[in-house]
Amino acid sequence: MQPLVLDIPGTPKNPFTLTIPVDGALLDLSDAEVRFPTPGTARVDVEPVNEGFLLTGLLEIRVQLDCSRCLAPVMRDVSEGFRIVLSRDPAGGDTDDDWVFLAKDERLFDLAPIVRDLILVALPAKPLCSDSCMGLCPECGSDRNRVQCRCTSIPVDPRWAALQSLRAHEDPPEREEAIHGTTEEKDIEEPA
Ligand SMILES: [Zn+2]
Ligand SMILES: [Zn+2]
Repeated sequence: MQPLVLDIPGTPKNPFTLTIPVDGALLDLSDAEVRFPTPGTARVDVEPVNEGFLLTGLLEIRVQLDCSRCLAPVMRDVSEGFRIVLSRDPAGGDTDDDWVFLAKDERLFDLAPIVRDLILVALPAKPLCSDSCMGLCPECGSDRNRVQCRCTSIPVDPRWAALQSLRAHEDPPEREEAIHGTTEEKDIEEPA
């Protein structure tokens, strides 16, 4: 059997629960630059309802992303619930939930597209190893969380560039020495 395919017996009378492992490598998410260090799980309560089955699920999986500033690995635990009706009625029945048609003699339902969407929605647009991550130096590429390079250019928002050129004759403000090499709590002032 393929991973993430639920086997729904033809006409179950009572609710039941399926717990299935989620192997992220099989989700075809490599374009999203997300990796899966460990398998996750999808726990799905299956409840017979008039039009078919109500699936109430919880997806839990750990994902690994790259910090958008310094490229260090960033771990996130995704925990997302979902509700979906598997309808035996091609018109969907009278449900307000999202529904998927499942023909009368069909009992296999592939959960992979739903799991994939849940993960994509949960991913941060700009993952950060730390809110105060100082990123990589655009000139020498060194990790400014770990080393203070000698490069002079400080990337500035273009809207501030004019202001900075006004200040150019002044000495640059002293940079805090508190630059640590870890992702622990940091108390670094934002660059001026
Ligand atoms: Zn970072
Ligand atoms: Zn540099």
